[in-house]
Amino acid sequence: MDVQLLESTADPERLICQAARNDYMEEYVADTPFEEAMASMGGDSLEDKQETLIHHLLDHGHFGPFEHPHATFAVKGISRSCMAQLTRHRHVSFDVQSMRYVSFDDVDPDDVHDGEMVVVPPSATDPDWVGRNQQSGQVDEETAAEREELYRETIANSFDAYQELLEKGMPPEDARYVLPIGTKVNLVMSMNARMLMHVADMRAAADAQWEIRDMTERVLDLAAQWCPITFEYYDEEMHNRKNRLAP
Ligand SMILES: Cc1cc2nc3c(=O)[nH]c(=O)nc-3n(C[C@H](O)[C@H](O)[C@H](O)COP(=O)(O)OP(=O)(O)OC[C@H]3O[C@@H](n4cnc5c(N)ncnc54)[C@H](O)[C@@H]3O)c2cc1C
Repeated sequence: MDVQLLESTADPERLICQAARNDYMEEYVADTPFEEAMASMGGDSLEDKQETLIHHLLDHGHFGPFEHPHATFAVKGISRSCMAQLTRHRHVSFDVQSMRYVSFDDVDPDDVHDGEMVVVPPSATDPDWVGRNQQSGQVDEETAAEREELYRETIANSFDAYQELLEKGMPPEDARYVLPIGTKVNLVMSMNARMLMHVADMRAAADAQWEIRDMTERVLDLAAQWCPITFEYYDEEMHNRKNRLAP
C-alpha cells in the first residue's frame, strides 16, 4: 500500500482561524489583516495564537471551521474489500480505478501467487497473527503453511480463470466477477479536515480492520504534516476516541 498527499489547501490553519474568527468579529474578515483578526488570542507569536484558537475549537467541539480546508490523497494497492469500507463515508469524494476499462490481461498468475495483484492479509502468512474476529485462535506452523498456500493458490487460480475468460471473449467488466475481493485497487479521495478526523475516529480505531487502519494511520501522518497544529492535537487528545466528531 502507498498513500500520498496529491493536493491540499495551502495554509489550512490560517483558513480555519479566519473562519472561526469571522464568527466573533464585528469587522468583515476579508478586509481584516490576519494579525489583527488574531490579536485577541492568547500567545506571543502568530503561530502561538493560531494554536490557542485551534486547541480551543477542538476542545469545545466547534468543528465547523475545520470543514474549509481540503486535502486530496492518492491511495495505491488497497483491497477492494478495504475500498468498500472506505467508500461508505459519504462526505469523502472518490475516484476509483475501473475494472471495466482496465483489464489485467497481462498479469502473470505466478506473480499473483506472490502477492502482486491481490492483498495478502497477515493472517494468511503469520502463524501468530490473531485476528479480531478469529474463532479458532492460533494454529500450528504446518496448518499456517497450508493456509498460506491455499490462499495464494486460490488467488492465482482466479486470475488464471479471469484471463481465460478474457481470451474466450468475455468483456473485462463481466470477467472481473471471478476476481477475489482482495484484488488491489488505486483510488483518489478528497475530504475536508473535519471529515478526515471523523474517518480517523472510525477507521484508525481498535475495532477497525488492520488494512483500513493502516491506510488511515498513513493518512493521519500526512495530515500532521499538512495541518500540524490540528492533527498533532488530534493525535495527542482525540485519537482512539471513537466517533468524537459525529454529531
Ligand atoms: C468497525 C466497523 C464495523 C462496521 N461494520 C459494518 C457492517 O457490518 N455493515 C455495514 O453496513 N456497515 C458497517 N460499518 C460502516 C458504518 O456503519 C458506517 O456506514 C460507515 O462507517 C460510515 O460512517 P458514518 O455512518 O459516520 O457516515 P459518514 O458517511 O462518514 O458521515 C459522517 C457523519 O455524517 C452524518 N450523516 C451522513 N449521512 C447521513 C444521513 N443520511 N443521515 C443522517 N446523518 C448522516 C452522520 O452523523 C455521520 O456520522 C462499520 C464501520 C466500522 C468502523
